[in-house]
Amino acid sequence: MDCERCGVDATLTHRDVDGFAYYLCEACIGGWDAVRTRSPEASDESRSAAQ
Ligand SMILES: [Zn+2]
Repeated sequence: MDCERCGVDATLTHRDVDGFAYYLCEACIGGWDAVRTRSPEASDESRSAAQ
């Protein structure tokens, strides 16, 4: 089965995104999670740690 985002033929995982059902490969799911869980606090924390 082909990933609905990048088209790679791989084992896909079902995912609901904004009310739509997608079948995505691991790489696309990982990228999607990184975007959706990105927190602005993380950059502040690393900046203060560098000082
Ligand atoms: Zn993909």
